[in-house]
Amino acid sequence: MEMGPVLSIRTPATSEGSSGEVYLVGTGPGDPDLLTVRACRLMQHADVVLYDHLVSDEILNLLPALIERIYVGKQRNNHALRQEQINQRMVDLARSGKRVLRLKGGDPFVFGRGGEEIESLAQAGIRFEVVPGITAALGVAAYAGIPLTHRNHAQACTFVTGQLKDGSMNLDWPALARPNQTLVVYMGLLGLSVLCGKLVENGRSPATPAAVIQQGTTSAQRVIAGTLTTLPALVDEAGLQPPTLIVIGEVVRLREKLNWFEAKRNLA
Ligand code: SAH
Repeated sequence: MEMGPVLSIRTPATSEGSSGEVYLVGTGPGDPDLLTVRACRLMQHADVVLYDHLVSDEILNLLPALIERIYVGKQRNNHALRQEQINQRMVDLARSGKRVLRLKGGDPFVFGRGGEEIESLAQAGIRFEVVPGITAALGVAAYAGIPLTHRNHAQACTFVTGQLKDGSMNLDWPALARPNQTLVVYMGLLGLSVLCGKLVENGRSPATPAAVIQQGTTSAQRVIAGTLTTLPALVDEAGLQPPTLIVIGEVVRLREKLNWFEAKRNLA
């Protein structure tokens, strides 16, 4: 197969002598096979890599052994570097002539603060490029056997963050409670019972299927499925490990037939 120009790397052979640049790269939800070709290529050509906790070890293992790696954290309440420090670090590294790879889990522009990071680069006059990644909603739903839309069940799909703000979730509940749509909630585990309760309070059927997926697309993927009524207690008992994603809607039920990934894993 002739692939030549399609896969060209579009980066200079060396960054010596010129000012550096920053590549903000999404690495997908965990399975290294879900990296884009562009992400893989840039990983071979960077001078320094900044990564956070969502970037899996399997992906970091694909980096050349001698490349400089900087862990910048970003777990809940455990940020190795504050956001402003990360931004400044990237500016300083690029100014020193380095080709900087900023790896982020999923897609950099979906709940990833990627916008903030490149705003500070733009302000400092640093060249940058953004490489999209497969966001958790897409990767995790595919590997959990949950089609996010379906002609019979869901004509819309909404991604929201369930990060609690002052102990409550600041979301448009009447809109989210409407039927015939799928909701995907990032960072929602701590607020799961509030979330399920609010949806029911605002009119979504208590029997609506819902699932929490742990470490989707990886060998540690685990799915706890129930309804808006039963899910919080099932999840409490299950002792799930982060990261976890919540999917709510009739489409969750299709998983009983379409759950290809776990079926394949169980055969292996
Ligand atoms: N930019 C990322 C999201 C960052 S927010 C993206 O596009 O995917 C972090 C949240 O993403 C986690 O709290 C979790 O809700 C979700 N997430 C990321 N990877 C996941 C995975 N492999 N399995 C389940 N949830 C995941």
